Amino acid sequence: MPSPIIVVHGGAWAIPDEVCQAHQQGVERAAAAGWRALERGATSLDAVEDAVAAMEDDETFDAGRGAFLNRDGRVQLDALIMDGANLKAGGVGCVERLLNPVRAARVVLEKSPHLYFVAEGAERFASENGLRLIDNSELILPREIERWKSAAEQRYLKVPEEFRGGRGSHDDSHDTVGAVALDRHGNIAAATSTGGTLNKAPGRVGDSSLIGCGCYADNDTAAASTTGWGEPMMKLVLAKWATDRVTADVAPEQVAPATIHYLYRRLNGQGGIILLDCEGRVGIAHNTPRMAWAWCSQSASQSGLRFPAS
Ligand code: ASP
Repeated sequence: MPSPIIVVHGGAWAIPDEVCQAHQQGVERAAAAGWRALERGATSLDAVEDAVAAMEDDETFDAGRGAFLNRDGRVQLDALIMDGANLKAGGVGCVERLLNPVRAARVVLEKSPHLYFVAEGAERFASENGLRLIDNSELILPREIERWKSAAEQRYLKVPEEFRGGRGSHDDSHDTVGAVALDRHGNIAAATSTGGTLNKAPGRVGDSSLIGCGCYADNDTAAASTTGWGEPMMKLVLAKWATDRVTADVAPEQVAPATIHYLYRRLNGQGGIILLDCEGRVGIAHNTPRMAWAWCSQSASQSGLRFPAS
């Protein structure tokens, strides 16, 4: 049986020097949280949930508290979690009153015959299943109010990216978080969580929480989590595109760069991906200047802001 491993990312973009340390420490802490779960014998599903929740709790990232504000000045969060052993999945979109959307997604996976809940219905379902509802203001940081104000001013001066084809630029912050893990039973899982894109239209859902777009897991192929401008990734159903290409002969290490190449060739897209199969083979790739990533296994752990590590 292959040894357990967890791989996480904390977004792919031109992460500025002054926030590099926070990003690297954040992904290291998340990988360690996921690893603790794997080490005590928990499932890969538990591990990706704990790793992603750690990054939702970390204000560095565009997930949970500290996420970007939408055009109305509110935080709206999306998350998905998926179990590769049985293809069970749970997702929430446009939630405004949950500290940890990935935990709400897990509750959907465990307790609902449905796969995806949005907005008040998602919050109600989470609350009925024991998650605390908070006020949206608890998710908002002064830093993000400043960022939102300057983005709103700039939008008066330039045509928004989404009307120019939705490509985005690697200067736009993309701090979405995600994790993929393999447990001691040989099962893989994936989770992704995000506040979406800065100044997004209220109600907009990106790739991150859509099954097969920003997240996917299937023991027969691989587990994937993506980050970057969501619209191109949705059009390409990118996470499923990637996992479908992993076979005994074609390793995640080859498929991850091919996936990002496909994203760029087909739609000029920019972003990154983490990919893991049941053999414990790992693929990490991005075409942005930086992507925060980390992994942890029995024998070693590693993290960085560029891959291959330099
Ligand atoms: N993919 C996310 C979205 O478009 C953004 C990101 O990865 O940072 O909502």
